[in-house]
Amino acid sequence: MTFSRRDFLARSLAASALAFAPFERLAAAVRFRSEPFQLGVASGEPAADGFVLWTRVAPEPFEPGQLGTTVFELEWEVATDRDFGRIAASGTAFARPHLAHAVHVEVGGLAPASEYFYRFRLGRYESPVGRAVTAPAAGAPAESLRFGISSCAHYEQGFFAAYRHMAADGLDLMLALGDYIYEGSWGARRVRLFDVFDAVTLDDYRRRYCQYRTDPDLQAAHAACPWLVTWDDHEVANDYVGFTSEHELCGGEQVRESFPARRAAAYKAWFEHMPVRPSRLLPGGAIRLWGTVDWGSLARFYLLDTRQFRSPQACNPPPTEMRCDSVAGRKLRPGGTGGGGRVDPAEPACKAALEDPSRTFLGEEQERWLDGAFGDSRARWNLLAQAVMFAPLIEGSRESPRVRTDNWSGYPAARERLLGSLARHRVANPVVLTGDVHAFAVNEVENARGQLQAAEFVASSIAAETTNLAAQQPLNPRMVYQDSEHSGYVRFDVAPVRLRADIVGIADMRDPRSGRETLASFELVPGDPRPRRL
Ligand code: CA
Repeated sequence: MTFSRRDFLARSLAASALAFAPFERLAAAVRFRSEPFQLGVASGEPAADGFVLWTRVAPEPFEPGQLGTTVFELEWEVATDRDFGRIAASGTAFARPHLAHAVHVEVGGLAPASEYFYRFRLGRYESPVGRAVTAPAAGAPAESLRFGISSCAHYEQGFFAAYRHMAADGLDLMLALGDYIYEGSWGARRVRLFDVFDAVTLDDYRRRYCQYRTDPDLQAAHAACPWLVTWDDHEVANDYVGFTSEHELCGGEQVRESFPARRAAAYKAWFEHMPVRPSRLLPGGAIRLWGTVDWGSLARFYLLDTRQFRSPQACNPPPTEMRCDSVAGRKLRPGGTGGGGRVDPAEPACKAALEDPSRTFLGEEQERWLDGAFGDSRARWNLLAQAVMFAPLIEGSRESPRVRTDNWSGYPAARERLLGSLARHRVANPVVLTGDVHAFAVNEVENARGQLQAAEFVASSIAAETTNLAAQQPLNPRMVYQDSEHSGYVRFDVAPVRLRADIVGIADMRDPRSGRETLASFELVPGDPRPRRL
């Protein structure tokens, strides 16, 4: 993900030579009724010589189209001090209507392992100041890395106190592991409401991101340090895989035809609001999400896309047995039989479907890429950033065990291939970072032959009604810890000789001023995949 200064200059020249579309016009004077930087600033994807800077010109975030076809030229500055006395890099970027006036600036030419501050300017308007850091130089023996993982932020179900505490933690990096937004409105005790009940169109998803980004705690978290972002289902729709929605099996032609358009809208809005490299948005609207980020020789992150290329969940009943009702012109599933489910893994037909080796979780191309990235890793710690529970998870009871078809337990052959790849390349100290379940968990990950290969840390939600893993822990002896009471995040302090994980719980997600507490701490030492409780 690194690129040289020469590349950077070439790209800047290419960008400034960019011709505007015939309908676009460059703003002559800049005057708005309200602040254009209401959605804040963000940085992401740190490399040894730079990072991505993001902002969006949105003086009226909930009045789409208000800026029309105008193009704005923003100035950006990166400095080594918060007062911008020592400028390290600066330039201009165009905010254009086809990306909702978002900008993604790839800054290069900076010093490795350094702290920077950045801001944007548009006419007389100045953005808030953000803080970013660069990674250590390739192969450099970095001594420390401090990062946090987050997942599942349902805006309606809680406030974002967890993000506020993460922002205050002095982190080098924050990782979002999926369900950064929720497409749908639900929950028994909502503390605030979405303006769009169910996001379907591009305009809906943009409004959703605007609602999230006007939250002061989330905005502070983005300004605090660079983020690495992967996704799960709710960035688009519950339990979708590939081009298949959970409603698809209801047989509604209208639904079948509209889901690819809905997914494209959701992906575009995601790109417009995330601090990611412009190259991630592919022609045709797909997103290239996967990639590695290196932290010197200390750590390598593998960002995985576990939705876009996946085979459909196994063992769903045939469409004729499903209950499909039409609500507001869309098919819904009150019975809950499409998408993911909980199934008996020993039932013969289902067992054959689950274990079919042709089923994939990452898609062939991403699997091949990951195998190559494992093969050339020299990192001490190898950290897989991904969305759903990786370790085998048995639910139900001893008498009638169940597995969930939407996580890796629903794709056992794909999981074994990944574990086989880790073993074949003798990847040092693999650690899986996970979200999705709305509860904290720490797992020892074993392969099908019972060999321990990795540790897994599962972050609870930033804000979402919790799931009860306590009932399942006795069925899963490799689950060495769970907390089903708290929302929150996991904070990691990584050094060459140990990795420490603090499980940070939020006392009350319904209180925006809620305090936090460390619920438990674990340590890993090189060469041993068993997390030790401190
Ligand atoms: Ca999820």
